[in-house]
Amino acid sequence: MEFSLTSEQMMLRDTAREYARNELLPNAARFDAEGVFPGAQVKGMAELGLMGMMVDEAHGGVGMDVLSYALAMEEISAGCASCGVIMSVNNSLVCDPIETFGSQEQKQAWLPKLASGEQLGCFALSEPGTGSDAAAQTCKAVLEGDTWVINGEKNWITNGAEADVCVLIAMEDSSKGVKGINAYIVPTDMPGFVVAKNEKKLGIKASSTSQISLQDLRLPTDALLGERGKGFNVAMHTLDGGRIGIAAQALGIARQAYEEARDYSMERHAFGAPIGNLQAIQFMLADMATEIEAARLLIWQAAMLKEQKGNYGRASAMAKVYASEVSARVTHKAIQVFGGYGYSKEFPAERHFRDARITEIYEGTSEIQRLVIARSVLKEGI
Ligand SMILES: Cc1cc2nc3c(=O)[nH]c(=O)nc-3n(C[C@H](O)[C@H](O)[C@H](O)COP(=O)(O)OP(=O)(O)OC[C@H]3O[C@@H](n4cnc5c(N)ncnc54)[C@H](O)[C@@H]3O)c2cc1C
Repeated sequence: MEFSLTSEQMMLRDTAREYARNELLPNAARFDAEGVFPGAQVKGMAELGLMGMMVDEAHGGVGMDVLSYALAMEEISAGCASCGVIMSVNNSLVCDPIETFGSQEQKQAWLPKLASGEQLGCFALSEPGTGSDAAAQTCKAVLEGDTWVINGEKNWITNGAEADVCVLIAMEDSSKGVKGINAYIVPTDMPGFVVAKNEKKLGIKASSTSQISLQDLRLPTDALLGERGKGFNVAMHTLDGGRIGIAAQALGIARQAYEEARDYSMERHAFGAPIGNLQAIQFMLADMATEIEAARLLIWQAAMLKEQKGNYGRASAMAKVYASEVSARVTHKAIQVFGGYGYSKEFPAERHFRDARITEIYEGTSEIQRLVIARSVLKEGI
């Protein structure tokens, strides 16, 4: 597989890197401490075309490729992991399903505003009682005449507090199992769409995570996204793509933690010389760098398979489980390189460690990624 970047991809990566270094990195500690949504920075990302990168030009986007998206996600997440997930949700979990499954009217109504950053989206699949077992939806959709009436609770919804539009998954007929599940596009200013609670979290504190209560939410029939009874398919397809974004987020966090540890190892002296001269430290840096490179290759492979419209579900699960666990290991080692300062809030190492942890959980836990991979390799080999 050819992995050289085009000049457009390199330019995009460099633009995202510059923005992350100038606008995100200097503010990331404050965003984390204050836990406030970085609205101005998200607007800046939108101005660079990063909020709906793969949306087709016909729908108001710039139609970039999946690898460009992964490159930009790595850079933005290196600057601010919260900004990374805000961007990832809008691109992967909102624009992508609307573009893939939406009607022409839905695409025209939503994609130009989402791609330009005028509007922000969220994706609501998880519930208080079910996350990994996504088929066990209890959020109820009832068709009354020409109106869908939705009632239920959704949990952990990223961008939930700020979003203008929500891709919502709900159960119409549980007796049909996954074939009873529908997907909808919901304007969040509709009566019955209630942000019930904002969660306090370990990391990615500047991205909102909300419980959404759906209270007699009444939707017209054209709010249905994709075919009736195919909502589970919409959700699973969406997550296959989303995992590439989260893997790239994990990679960006890991790379930033590694680079800071590497630089510190040259500045900090112990026993009369930089700690970077010690083989113990060098071996940690060597392992960190090797795992980061390996994660990047898996991510690029998954991105290319998605771009080629190949079967990328296994590749994106491999990229996600590997990159997220690399991110956890690398940020753990980065604290070790910093010693006591790594444990202090004076340095960003502890933030990277907290931010990395979520990548092993959302858009499918590591255990769920391994289930996806195992099912695939048992059926098709490698
Ligand atoms: C900060 C944050 C943001 C999120 N954003 C969103 C969002 O925007 N939209 C959305 O819909 N959801 C979102 N989520 C939800 C997230 O996707 C779920 O938390 C995740 O899928 C796990 O579900 P759960 O929390 O219910 O854990 P559970 O499913 O209860 O899992 C608990 C444990 O059991 C394990 N487990 C469960 N089933 C199996 C199995 N079959 N085999 C092996 N192990 C298993 C899990 O791996 C895990 O270790 C977010 C979560 C967080 C924390």
